[in-house]
This record gives sequence, C-alpha cells and structure tokens, in this order.
Amino acid sequence: MQHAAPPKPALGVPCTGCGACCLLEPCPVGRLWLGSWRGRCRALEWDGAAHRYVCGMVRQPARYLRWLPARLNAWAGRRFARWIAAGAGCDADIEITD
Ligand code: SF4
Ligand code: SF4
Repeated sequence: MQHAAPPKPALGVPCTGCGACCLLEPCPVGRLWLGSWRGRCRALEWDGAAHRYVCGMVRQPARYLRWLPARLNAWAGRRFARWIAAGAGCDADIEITD
C-alpha cells in the first residue's frame, strides 16, 4: 500500500481511493473479467498525481483486456465504472489497522 494513500472512510462515505478493498481481493469485475480471485487486483493502479488508487478497468481497460481495441477504452471504462458503482459510497466493510 502506498504511504500517500488516503485513509479508508466509514461505510457509505464517498470513496477516497484508499485502495484497501482492491488490495485485499478483486471485486466481481476483477474476478469475472480478469480471472483473478485472490489478493491484490491486477487492475489496481496508483495515481501519483491524485494521490489515490484508481481502477484500471475504468481508466484503461484495454490494457488488461488484450482483445479490447484501445479506441473503446472510454466506452468500456464507463460501463465498468457503472458495474463497480464508482462514485458511490465506500462499500468495503473492513477495518484497517496500522
Ligand atoms: S471503496 Fe472504500 S475501501 Fe475501496 S477504495 Fe474506495 S474508500 Fe477505499
Ligand atoms: S476491477 Fe477495479 S474496482 Fe475491481 S478490484 Fe480491480 S481495481 Fe478494484
């Protein structure tokens, strides 16, 4: 986990991009589309400028789905954003301890 990552908020509070959920285990998008079931999702990206983690399946899905033409990145990214409910409150019921 990046030291500059923001803290995890309480359940239902807007996502901070702390990355805790995706570092622990892939969500349904990561499982179904990337076939990864355990540990850190391979689509998790660190945005150094924004100081937060971002979902690579939203930002640049063609990087992870080799069959997807790069010109469809924005279109597919919007669909994955809806699928993972990006922009909604944090739904990760996990407790972070130092
Ligand atoms: S959903 Fe919650 S745990 Fe996952 S990145 Fe956003 S704030 Fe962090
Ligand atoms: S697909 Fe995106 S939202 Fe889902 S676990 Fe991977 S990085 Fe996180």
